[in-house]
Amino acid sequence: MRTHLTGQKMFFAGKWVNSEQIIEVRNPQDNSIIDVVPAATAEDMLNCVKEAEEGAEIAAAMPVHERIKVINGAADHIEQHSGKYARTIALESSKTIREAKKEVGRAIQTLRISAEEARRINGETIPFDQSPGSENRIGYFYRFPIGIIGAITPFNDPLNLVAHKIGPAIASGNAIIVKPATVTPLSALLLAEAFSLAGLPAKVLSVITGHGREIGDALVTHPAVRMITFTGGLEAGEDISRKAGLKKISMELGSNSPVIVLEDADLEEAVDSSVSGAFWAAGQNCLSVQRIYIQESVFESFKTQFVERTGEYIVGDKLSELTDMGPLITEKEAMRVEQLIEEAVSRGAVVLTGGERTGAFYSPTVLTDVPENCTIAKEEVFGPVVLLYAVADLDEAIALSNNVNYGLQAGIFTKNIDLAHKAIAKLDVGGIMVNDSSDYRIDAMPFGGVKNSGLGREGIKFSIQEMTEPKVVCFKLSSH
Ligand code: NAP
Repeated sequence: MRTHLTGQKMFFAGKWVNSEQIIEVRNPQDNSIIDVVPAATAEDMLNCVKEAEEGAEIAAAMPVHERIKVINGAADHIEQHSGKYARTIALESSKTIREAKKEVGRAIQTLRISAEEARRINGETIPFDQSPGSENRIGYFYRFPIGIIGAITPFNDPLNLVAHKIGPAIASGNAIIVKPATVTPLSALLLAEAFSLAGLPAKVLSVITGHGREIGDALVTHPAVRMITFTGGLEAGEDISRKAGLKKISMELGSNSPVIVLEDADLEEAVDSSVSGAFWAAGQNCLSVQRIYIQESVFESFKTQFVERTGEYIVGDKLSELTDMGPLITEKEAMRVEQLIEEAVSRGAVVLTGGERTGAFYSPTVLTDVPENCTIAKEEVFGPVVLLYAVADLDEAIALSNNVNYGLQAGIFTKNIDLAHKAIAKLDVGGIMVNDSSDYRIDAMPFGGVKNSGLGREGIKFSIQEMTEPKVVCFKLSSH
């Protein structure tokens, strides 16, 4: 594959700028350099916040019809150049071209929903006269933008998860500074280009490329930044939460999602969607199916079908339309997954299929008999590995599903509505998919987790709630 290095600039307060230090962006498939981007310094970030202070005033003063026009304009641009966006995702991340095309479609939707929601940022009238002595007061509240939002994003959905920050921020009249993942900055820069071409005023948006550990603190601890919206891993999320101080925090973190398959389920459907949910983006997906609890009577049949479907997966060149699964984001990540599996096997786990690494590629892997005290049973694997367990009944499946420190989403396959409702009530998660795997999301739904999976909710309308505050207005009348 020919690579054409252009040397990307970062989007600093509406201008495209270089920096002395650079970061090489590599294709995880063969480690070739795709491009370079600036490695910003903490000083660059501080200067950017200064510009954003003006940007926040500009953003808040933008009439809603302008915000709608700009956001839809950015969506139009992506639609018109969708091939370029998909190819960029497929080159810099570990997604296949088919997965990348889906992400581009999702990002367009995320922006269109943001444009729609801009016109629905409503307040309410307040019946002040409910309080004795306030009979002569009338008023209302409306929602105002909080100012500057700092967004820090991960590598696994390098376009759509950035759109989930920028779309609602601009819809609600805020300025936003994005720090994308160092390994996948190109898609975020392309998104900034779409907004710039759509006429977003300078200083409202910046995309600053650089290492989180070097420039993150300057953004996170800055008092003028009123909210940090973070999507990424638990460790960085906890570090950021500790440092942020008195500002809003939204945390979209990881999980190790369970799926429950009861004996009355449509097994073929359960196998199909759980295989896809386990190996989408090589398992580097916050909603990835990691643990499947199958009722004993159908365990053998489910296992056989699951292993068979997994064996059909085509792993290889990300740019081929035939490929089902690409590499992990780096060889180091693939080695981390390898070690987790080795630990499980040393404690008695059985590899039913997969378990092989070649460079950054790790074959889709199905394990059984994994003891509960193994790291892979408790923590997020973030790789193409799924654990199968036989359970006696729903109660056991629920108890085991909840026996971890995460809770993003879960899936249950059953035709019995009473059992489905029991699972809905008892599973400790932010979302439950009935007759689907945990890996289902639309961009308009409230999205987020409990326990170590996060704090707050995304999904445009819900992000807008987090990115705005109510302002109360009360008129005291001289007579009534
Ligand atoms: P990560 O290592 O936590 O990095 C995420 C972002 O945080 C990157 O931009 C990173 O910058 C930055 N960062 C790291 N340490 C930082 C620090 N101390 N201060 C400020 N910024 C810092 O996560 P990842 O490996 O990219 O993504 C995988 C994780 O994201 C998984 O756990 C996955 O479940 C989670 N995720 C959650 C959701 C959700 O919606 N719940 C969605 C997708 C992914 P550098 O790249 O420069 O290190």
